[in-house]
Amino acid sequence: MSPRRAGSGPGMERVTRIRVMRERIAAIHRAGGKIAFVPTMGALHEGHLSLIREARRCGTATAVSIFVNPLQFGPAEDFERYPRDPEGDREKCAAEGVDLLFEPEAAEIFPPGHATTVRMGPVGEILEGAARSGHFDGVATVVAKLFLIVQPQVALFGQKDYQQTVVIRRLVRDLDFDVKIAVLPTVREPDGLAMSSRNRYLKGEDRKAAAALYRALREAQAVAAAGGPDPRKIEAAAKRVIEAEPRMALEYIRAADPETLAPVETRDKPFVLLLAARVGPVRLIDNIMIG
Ligand code: AMP
Repeated sequence: MSPRRAGSGPGMERVTRIRVMRERIAAIHRAGGKIAFVPTMGALHEGHLSLIREARRCGTATAVSIFVNPLQFGPAEDFERYPRDPEGDREKCAAEGVDLLFEPEAAEIFPPGHATTVRMGPVGEILEGAARSGHFDGVATVVAKLFLIVQPQVALFGQKDYQQTVVIRRLVRDLDFDVKIAVLPTVREPDGLAMSSRNRYLKGEDRKAAAALYRALREAQAVAAAGGPDPRKIEAAAKRVIEAEPRMALEYIRAADPETLAPVETRDKPFVLLLAARVGPVRLIDNIMIG
């Protein structure tokens, strides 16, 4: 098999078994090909597609996984009703020139008796990790398994899930995965709401109210650009925007070090402003770089 240019090969192959995936990956590597990998939970939208398009630019073969990972959902969370659209996802991946679409069953990845998990430590326990106990251990475990199966040279993630990118970089460093991590900008709806598979739960007034999240981040950015205020005041400016939206309940807002996510006290260097809020039945997260 010669190294295929993404999209110019004989078309997309769907793979459900780990053994078959390993064979395909080995063939690509033997031929000198380079694999760019986009792990997802499906219900694909433009945010996912932006990662896939970039993957096509940086690999000779593009692999996408669709796996709703039970390990990263808490017992009270929406695993069962997480949006699923296998037909639509296949069409989108084929149209984008994906070479390998890996869509394993849950029991293929976590067969009965599976017991080994990754523990992320502090960076997985703050912010999202505090609100969703065990979430990042579940993310790290499945991403580690997927990296071992797909053996990508590059893996692409969205800035939308900022803490997840910090966790993945930590995982790659700590376990010596030989993979380059690329993080791409958040793709947004026209009113600024970050695209997310869960946005389809947002109806009517809740959907309109959800735009306050990005408005809050932009307000923080504007306050920061005007110069001066310390991170607490920048957080407060964003908080006021959220609190002005009665349908929205703020969970946290934090000006954090971009690498460690520790709270920042000064404006000596750029920081990331992270927030989480509830609107109606949906928990939303978003973030923006400041400075
Ligand atoms: P998910 O299917 O939600 O697990 O997301 C799969 C990948 O797509 C993750 O790396 C996400 O950060 C990324 N992603 C999700 N939403 C967006 C978005 N609006 N813009 C850019 N990337 C995104």
